[in-house]
Amino acid sequence: MVANRFVLLATLINTFLFNGALYSFIASNLDLTTLSGLSIAVSVFVIVFIVNLLFISLIIIITPILVKPFLILTAMINSFALYYMVTYQIILDKTMMGNIFNTRSSEAFELITPTLLLYLILIGIIPSWLIIKTRIKSINRGKIVTQLLIFMVLGIYFLYINSSSWLWIDKHSKLLGGKILPWSYIINTARYYSINLKSSDNQVLLPEGKFLNEKKTVIVLIIGETARAHNFHLYGYPRNTNPLLETAGVLTFKNTSSCTTYTTGSLACMLSYNSREKNAEPLPSYLTRLGVDVVWRTNNWGEPPINVTDYQEASELRKNCIGEGCNFDEVLLSGLSQRIQSSNKPKILIVLHTKGSHGPSYYSRYPPQFEKFTPVCRYEEISKCTQQELINAYDNTILYTDYFLYKTIKILKKLKGIPVMLIYISDHGESLGEQGLYLHGTPYMFAPDFQKQIPFLIWMSNDFTKLKGIKNIPQDNQYSHSNIFHTIIGAFDIKTKIYNRNLDVLH
Ligand SMILES: [Zn+2]
Repeated sequence: MVANRFVLLATLINTFLFNGALYSFIASNLDLTTLSGLSIAVSVFVIVFIVNLLFISLIIIITPILVKPFLILTAMINSFALYYMVTYQIILDKTMMGNIFNTRSSEAFELITPTLLLYLILIGIIPSWLIIKTRIKSINRGKIVTQLLIFMVLGIYFLYINSSSWLWIDKHSKLLGGKILPWSYIINTARYYSINLKSSDNQVLLPEGKFLNEKKTVIVLIIGETARAHNFHLYGYPRNTNPLLETAGVLTFKNTSSCTTYTTGSLACMLSYNSREKNAEPLPSYLTRLGVDVVWRTNNWGEPPINVTDYQEASELRKNCIGEGCNFDEVLLSGLSQRIQSSNKPKILIVLHTKGSHGPSYYSRYPPQFEKFTPVCRYEEISKCTQQELINAYDNTILYTDYFLYKTIKILKKLKGIPVMLIYISDHGESLGEQGLYLHGTPYMFAPDFQKQIPFLIWMSNDFTKLKGIKNIPQDNQYSHSNIFHTIIGAFDIKTKIYNRNLDVLH
């Protein structure tokens, strides 16, 4: 096949085969029986065609040897990407690319399903095989450039006479851009890494702080995963998903929203003194530097780079853990009481980063006795389950979280004479099929409240309320992840310039 024909064919394949998610978004958001709807749809199609033609022409002109490997590699990745976009309504923007690169391989395996393999064969392997089979003859750069110019002039002319479409395209540009394969993930991966390189530069140290007293204080911060306020009985959910916490005397902060809809963003935000400050020393490192005994225990990942006294992963804690709970979040409680009692520092911060309600395999996040709401969805492939089965499985994870928090409080209550506060806050919420959305990570502007409204609870021991002279704490104000840093600084009685008492919920 002559080279310019090959370019045209590859462009058509790229335009049609890999952009099902883009076209279905257009079909469901536009009335294609009207002239204006149709002209917008064709305009988007023309843009996708021109972008593909431009890049493929450039590659073959500059390095002809790379054009086949490039097309094969992107076809394979596209098949994965398209599957996730269609199944989970995912948008491949820069934060989603960050999520993907932060996913561990064990997590990734949970997502592999028979349908995914079908996508891989039909959209990845078969086109790749055809590309390998095709022999490219006589690469005439002049012809390729001429072809490119002709199509570009025609395309730009078409877009010009249909300029009324631009308003709609511009309004949805972020969503559309995240759906055009392969350019969405290529460009957004580059953007993710360029931003990440910047923030892994040395963190800016926070100003010095002083303890106003040396009284023993223990704070336990439990970071939830994918728990949404909507499914907590404490937040008005009709099902009793909080039978134990209801009896535990916790404060429930009714209007709490997350900073972002993904783990790494929300963790960075809740550990920062200022959510706009991307590169500041995070709370655990700051407190460790000031002399607090900081223990970070994790059954999850995604925290910013931190320096703490003890960093303990679940796999390590599991070695000395006894009982069925060790396979679940309870592993984080193994030896916790002894760790606190053996500390020789007056101020202790324990962070427990849980796996919580991480999807899509909600059913695997809790021991069997917590399967109270049935039947549950047992497929990673959400589309095989009814929405109710999915919600049942999710509600069981909340029921287990209820037990986990209650069990932690019970352990802390036994620390007689030590003032203790426990904070529980989730990193973000979750979509369980509402408006056709699943999981989380939708760009904040478009994300539904289900992904942004999170549970935020506080429990305090009697010794703690006495020590701090706490009486009434308003629970109906607007709160967010920004309150965590300042509430903990306040609870430890640290005098520092960056403390903002307006963000301290106990003040
Ligand atoms: Zn998360």
